[in-house]
Formats: sequence, structure tokens, C-alpha cells
Amino acid sequence: MIIELECGNHYDRTKSQHVEWLKHRLDSLIQALSDLYFRARENVVPIYGIQRMSELNILLELEESPPELDEHMRQWIELGKKNFGGLFCRGCDRCAGVCPQNIRVGYASRIGDFFYRSPVEKYLTYKWFEEMQRVPNCTGCGECIRHCPFGLDLREAMKKNYAVFMDFWSRKEKYGVKEK
Ligand code: SF4
Ligand code: SF4
Repeated sequence: MIIELECGNHYDRTKSQHVEWLKHRLDSLIQALSDLYFRARENVVPIYGIQRMSELNILLELEESPPELDEHMRQWIELGKKNFGGLFCRGCDRCAGVCPQNIRVGYASRIGDFFYRSPVEKYLTYKWFEEMQRVPNCTGCGECIRHCPFGLDLREAMKKNYAVFMDFWSRKEKYGVKEK
């Protein structure tokens, strides 16, 4: 088995960007190894984000008896929103369904972060380029906020992430994205 950790053509990055990039490549390598591990076994399904038996038990209990959204839980949600901002988004896509401009708000507002957490190639695609081209059409109507279960206002995060996306897109050849 050969696993190649490609590292050419990135000499225009600053040191901190390079460290971020290396972390991201390492994540990809770990992901690839864990996929190989699970593929080699029958009747084993990976649940990403679950690392301990106790966490799996909590997940199963929640599935069997979903909790009520009480005041205590609302406070936790508010704390999460305050601390994580746009990253608190759960990616449920409800906002996308109501946006008159057909913008996938939840993804458009985090896509720059995805570049550091998952393989860049996954989101630096023509599909996502086309999705992101709708972001500047946002009229600020607030429909997405009204329909978000957490009332998230990601309009500013979306603009920032649009800029990050376009910056990556301007260097897309380096990431192996070919002209159409
Ligand atoms: S504020 Fe912008 S992103 Fe949100 S629903 Fe309105 S147009 Fe769509
Ligand atoms: S509705 Fe809220 S949580 Fe769901 S994707 Fe949109 S912003 Fe994220």
C-alpha cells in the first residue's frame, strides 16, 4: 500500500498557512487510513465524531428518547452560538430551502473553514463554484434567519467565506481543478 502525502507547489503560502495546510493533509491521511481499516472489516460502520463506547451509548439513548428542548438546553445553544458564531451551524440546509436567491447559506458561510478541515478538492469544484456565485445576490431579507432552528444570522460569515472561496478558486490549478 502506498500513501502519498503530496506537498509540492505551495511555496506562495505564509508559514502559518503552510502549517494549516499540513494539518489538513494529515487529517486527510488519518481519514484515508480509518476508511481502509473499516473497509477491511465486515459488519463495522464508522460513526464519525464518536470515539468512545460511552459516546455511542449517549447517541443511542437520544435516538430512543429524544430530549425536550427546555430552558437549560436553550442556554447551551445560546452559549454555543456566542462562542462558535457561524460554525455553530449544523448544516441542516433548512435555510437553503427558503432563500429566494437559492443560496445554501449553511455551507456558503463555512466553506472556507472546510478547506482547512477536509480535503480542499472536496469543495473546490465547479459545482461549489456555481453555488457560491449566488452569494453576492443576497438581498439581506433575513428569511434564512427566521427559518434556522437556532436563529443564526450568517450573512456576514457568508460574505467572508465567499471571499475565501474566490481566493482559493483563483489558485485552483494548484489544487488540481482543471478548466472545464
Ligand atoms: S438574507 Fe440572503 S441568504 Fe438569507 S434568505 Fe435572504 S437572500 Fe437568502
Ligand atoms: S438552517 Fe441554520 S443550522 Fe441549518 S444550515 Fe441553515 S444556518 Fe445552518
